[in-house]
Amino acid sequence: MSPFNLETCARPNILALEPYRCARDDYKDDGTNILLDANENAYGPALTASAASAAKSGSGPEIDFLGLHRYPDPHQRDLKQLLCNLRNTHHHTDKVTTPDNLFVGVGSDEAIDALIRCFCVPAQDRILVCPPTYGMYSVSAQVNDVSLVKVPLLPAPTFGLDVPKVSEALSDEQNHIKLVYLCSPGNPTGSLIAKDDVRQVLEHASWNGIVVVDEAYIDFSPDGASLAEWVSEWPNLVVMQTLSKAFGLAGIRLGAAFSPVPVARLLNSLKAPYNISSPTSALASHAVSTDGLATMRANMRKLVAQRERLIAELPRVRGVGRLRGGVESNFLLYEMLNGDGKPDNATALKVYEMLAESRGVVVRFRGKEHGCLGCLRITVGTECEVTRFLEALGSALAEVNGHAVADVPADEEKREDEASGVVA
Ligand SMILES: *Cc1c(COP(=O)(O)O)cnc(C)c1O
Repeated sequence: MSPFNLETCARPNILALEPYRCARDDYKDDGTNILLDANENAYGPALTASAASAAKSGSGPEIDFLGLHRYPDPHQRDLKQLLCNLRNTHHHTDKVTTPDNLFVGVGSDEAIDALIRCFCVPAQDRILVCPPTYGMYSVSAQVNDVSLVKVPLLPAPTFGLDVPKVSEALSDEQNHIKLVYLCSPGNPTGSLIAKDDVRQVLEHASWNGIVVVDEAYIDFSPDGASLAEWVSEWPNLVVMQTLSKAFGLAGIRLGAAFSPVPVARLLNSLKAPYNISSPTSALASHAVSTDGLATMRANMRKLVAQRERLIAELPRVRGVGRLRGGVESNFLLYEMLNGDGKPDNATALKVYEMLAESRGVVVRFRGKEHGCLGCLRITVGTECEVTRFLEALGSALAEVNGHAVADVPADEEKREDEASGVVA
């Protein structure tokens, strides 16, 4: 059993914080009070009348603008309840998460940073990351003067967690590791981390720290993959999610960290009180309501169809190598091959530049990441975008490697079509 102890794991200055309370926590606003407590402007926002009619909620006083002249709700319990409803699926536990289990922030980027500030003493404590992984963990660590211990994932295409090496790093007290950031599905790997591997890290026999699972892409994975509700079973598990990817709301900046109640209390104590704006909260609540979820799932089906199309089509493009990661996300990691048929960074970089500079298609070069030699990370787009991308990629590879655009030889293609019963 893990020796996790929040009182010795979190920073003393954070443990000493009191959660923020405003006058409106003491005196609930029933709509009849005159609010003269927060130095807001009762005459309303500096917006024009045309913006007003666009933004107006339809009821309420003339100058309403969605109540934008008021500070937003610092607690966001209604939004948190909707997020809990979404994730209390009982795939992993009979228990339920409640709003007390949640921190909501300005994207998951705020949660990544808040966790580091909560647990890591600058210039002393460290975080463990598993390359290839998301860049914000190291950026946030560096901003906070916290250094990294790196334990690479197992080789492609599984990109699994190297549990023995992670455990070994956590056993060494000299490492001062407070947080382990696991990305599942991984960016740029697209692979889920096995639940049992997460469990083994959570159960480490001597380590006093928190396992953070970043589930930014979880809605592209099979049902039941999210471990969010599992935070009700573990004192040392945090699961981060975001509305930036599957929900298509990167612009509103809304991320969430499902946490054990005492951890959520600390994160909520250290955050800026009004971190979630009213428009963000309103749009996020709509997205995770029944209507919003139906739209998200409809978009998801279209996206998965395009993901499958890419997986079927890319191997037929000459110069495209192996799929290196998993397929549980909205992007794919593919090798670009040189003239000798070998994965190659110079080729991948040239293709990347050509796609952007002369074909108007921007993807991501990931060849410098651990275990991603010669790889591009391709986000799955709309049907039209995928069509354009496939054409552009074929011609860019042909230009770089000096061969004809024709992909798989025509007679071979014909045989495949006959075999699968496709009539051209
Ligand atoms: C895109 C992404 C996020 C999302 O960050 P937000 O701040 O919520 O937009 C988080 N984690 C990973 C691994 C990502 O790729």
